[in-house]
Amino acid sequence: MRMKGLDRPMRPRGGFLRTLLLTRSPFPYETADHEEIPCDLCGSADCRVLSTKDRNYLDVRACICTRCGLIFLNPRMTKEWYGRYYQEEYRAQMARFKGRFDARPEEEDLAGLYRRGTRHGLALAALAQPYLRRGLTIEVGSSAGGVLNGFKQALDVEVRGIEPSGSEAQWANRQGIPTDAALIESTACALPPAANILCVQSLNHLLSPRFFLGWAHGHLDPQGCLLLEVMNFRHVLRRFQCLRRAIQIDHTYMFVPEVLRHFVIAAGFDILWMEQDEDSGPARRSDPQRAGLPGYHIRLVARKSGRAPFAHIPEMEGVYEHTMQSLESIPLSPIGYFFRHEARYLARRIKSRLRRRGSRGEAGRG
Ligand SMILES: [Zn+2]
Repeated sequence: MRMKGLDRPMRPRGGFLRTLLLTRSPFPYETADHEEIPCDLCGSADCRVLSTKDRNYLDVRACICTRCGLIFLNPRMTKEWYGRYYQEEYRAQMARFKGRFDARPEEEDLAGLYRRGTRHGLALAALAQPYLRRGLTIEVGSSAGGVLNGFKQALDVEVRGIEPSGSEAQWANRQGIPTDAALIESTACALPPAANILCVQSLNHLLSPRFFLGWAHGHLDPQGCLLLEVMNFRHVLRRFQCLRRAIQIDHTYMFVPEVLRHFVIAAGFDILWMEQDEDSGPARRSDPQRAGLPGYHIRLVARKSGRAPFAHIPEMEGVYEHTMQSLESIPLSPIGYFFRHEARYLARRIKSRLRRRGSRGEAGRG
């Protein structure tokens, strides 16, 4: 595989900032098996490196395909190692990134996930309702079932979830959201053709969005609809002005609206509606109708067409150049980002450590 812009091999590294900003984790990311992959959209092996650090200062190579503009980690951990990562490290790493270092009981986390998911699902269903169909609604990567609960309440439709995390799937089932604890690659569940398939904040995490889109095409009824909500890489970059902030090892693929559109059309869908809040002002984001919807995301609904998935990849002339130009036009200020965001996080971390040390001292005296 040819990779432009490569400045050094991947190797375990320490580093001052990383030591300061990362809570030591037992997960051996640096020694995990990694694999090189071709572009999941166009199959090209040519890519250009955008960043060699992720937002937690982990060594990565975030690349952009120089043919179609798809952004992805390459190399990346193997499927087996991502499996371990999600079981052992993912939730703890997310909590640390948000400056939360006290381990909460899992039940409390799941209840919170479900509650926030329901609010999110209600808002998303209200927004996408004119484009969706009545009938079985499946969500891939359905977490604790909250989003599906919102759809069930708002649209009065039958719902089914597919979620790889056993504890989240179990929680969803207990709340009355039927959920199969599996990956779509291995689900043994016989599913009837669906009216709608949702993938809400999960496409970034998949090891092959192409596989998912083909799977969704095969599992929808002839007029079925696909709803995606995906983080907008360029919007995060614009907001934080720091490349590594837009990159995280659990986001194996990263999207800008124009490339996502091509991907969905290549997979045999026609786009009915698409929105992104990259160009809208704060007024739209503070609209109470949108309460519960995450910022920095692209949302779209597409209808299944008669075209077979990836039988023909639409003309992508100029998409890479346009995407690259738009990314390069964003003024970057990693030092500004450090003082505006990471310094605050560091202060929270030190406070949390002192608090823990204090409470350990009191327990020792008591
Ligand atoms: Zn490509």
